[in-house]
Amino acid sequence: MCCSDLFFCALLISAQIATLVKNSPSYPLLLKKSFALLLTFLTINIAFSQHKVELVFSHSVSQERLQKTVRDLVGFGNRQGGTRSGDRAAAYMMREFRRMGLKTEILEDPEKMTFTNDQWSLDVVQPAKLKGVFAHSWLAGFSPSSRQKRVRLVRVSPDGDLSKVDVDSAAVLVDLNSAGSLYGRLAEKGAVCLLTWSEPHSRAYINSAFIENLPAGNSNPIPVFDISRTSAHTLMKTLDFNREIRIAFSSKTRIKKGKSKTVVATLPGRSAKYFIVCAHGDSDSGGPGADDNASGDSGVLEIARILSTMKRNGEISIPDSSIRFIIWGSEYSSAEHFVKTNSNELENILGVLNFDEIGTGAVRNCIYFEGNDQRTNYKILKTLQRIGEDYVGKKSFWHEATTNPSQGGTDSYVFLPNYLGRLGVPVVEIPSITVYTAAWQEPKSIFQPREWRTKAWKGSQDSVYIDYSLYYHSSMDTPSLTTDREPFNMVWGVKAVGIALLRLAWH
Ligand SMILES: [Zn+2]
Repeated sequence: MCCSDLFFCALLISAQIATLVKNSPSYPLLLKKSFALLLTFLTINIAFSQHKVELVFSHSVSQERLQKTVRDLVGFGNRQGGTRSGDRAAAYMMREFRRMGLKTEILEDPEKMTFTNDQWSLDVVQPAKLKGVFAHSWLAGFSPSSRQKRVRLVRVSPDGDLSKVDVDSAAVLVDLNSAGSLYGRLAEKGAVCLLTWSEPHSRAYINSAFIENLPAGNSNPIPVFDISRTSAHTLMKTLDFNREIRIAFSSKTRIKKGKSKTVVATLPGRSAKYFIVCAHGDSDSGGPGADDNASGDSGVLEIARILSTMKRNGEISIPDSSIRFIIWGSEYSSAEHFVKTNSNELENILGVLNFDEIGTGAVRNCIYFEGNDQRTNYKILKTLQRIGEDYVGKKSFWHEATTNPSQGGTDSYVFLPNYLGRLGVPVVEIPSITVYTAAWQEPKSIFQPREWRTKAWKGSQDSVYIDYSLYYHSSMDTPSLTTDREPFNMVWGVKAVGIALLRLAWH
């Protein structure tokens, strides 16, 4: 039985009840009981039709399509805003939204410095047995070009004492914590490149390189290569035995000004007020960025595709509020530009649902909704918490779901009151949250306020364990290691936000 059948059934029953009660001696009492019965019936009917439409949405989510979109996007390169790779990714998104019949436009940010790493090489020349040790290394963003050089490798000790080592005309091995403060001095003393690595309190970067960007601009004196922990430890062990290591390297990069392109597609509603469903379109690390954040972009596209199809098929009506699907050209700066250019009508934004990293998870199979410490987010996060509980453990839904307090570091923060204040635009109370399945490169436990405890969370109720990505901002954030390995994460993200929109934008 479909929901419209149920509705007519309810009308028939109510007509019959009305006839019966009119002819009854206990008319007032029966009238009350009848209306209560009718109300219950209508409530069940509405809940049933809501549930039905949510299931139609959920069954329409295509895991294969989500995976393919990630692979397509990663194929364009690192999608940095204002570069050819970023432009190609934006054109791809625009094409896809237009294919769905959505009105789509491109917004350009003001110019900013951008980089493109066209080519680089890095290998050991001597000893020969270390050849290939730099597998999965990466060239740091905003590194300058350098012709091919063959140089000795030296190591700066953890205390950063440069008096003990001759770095002139040498490549320097230095851990990431010291690299930032020593970079300029090492270049002044004649170092020709740096090799850096990171050691978080987790299993991340054992074989992949954490990608670090140099300050934006074209005045950085020497290139920096990011290498894995294993590579760094192998080199250090060899140097500790006083064996000489010689390496060969080169870099060819372009550093210039460019404008990030943000794609905005609109599903029109009955009102000018709108929800934003968004994700940053660039790989902000400069690496492949499959999980961070092609997974999020793919999720936005999938929701837009399903809702526009359901509307075309008459499975849903025109929403009460509009929905804008936005792929930010560059993380943070594009959302800031959007807020500034729309500063006179920020009160039209009913809520922001942001995806950032919905493609992997190192330890748990959980979907997270952030940040429950912001008063403005109360209603929207209670809706998501309820959705988490309604569907947890059901076939092809999340194993765990929880809200969590703010951690920062993504586009949803731009819309929150503190950030709006800093941008000098009217401070409007916009609920703005992020949905993800992994964050950062190591796990964290955050205190969970009592009112946000949920039966959809299987761990301790006092705190929430934030899962991390083994490949966060790394050279190996590739589809095969993240979104193709655990594609269910994206499916969960799409279902959670799609269902949330069905509960929020149609009422
Ligand atoms: Zn991100």
